[in-house]
Amino acid sequence: MKNFQCADCGKWYGWKESLYNHRNYECGKERQFACPQCPYRASRKGSLKTHLFTQHAKGTRRTVIAAMFA
Ligand SMILES: [Zn+2]
Ligand SMILES: [Zn+2]
Repeated sequence: MKNFQCADCGKWYGWKESLYNHRNYECGKERQFACPQCPYRASRKGSLKTHLFTQHAKGTRRTVIAAMFA
């Protein structure tokens, strides 16, 4: 049974703690990491890093990418 609903996105959670975690770490923070070189947005910093390395490594020096995550 899910009794807790997020007021912002409408997702339901069975535990108050789950909703609490969602609102703290997920809600409104999804895809907050925007790629500076294309419209891609990542939900996690690591995902954006992987994206940059795999998609833009040729046009961007690795040191530049690395600096973004320093
Ligand atoms: Zn939410
Ligand atoms: Zn990109």
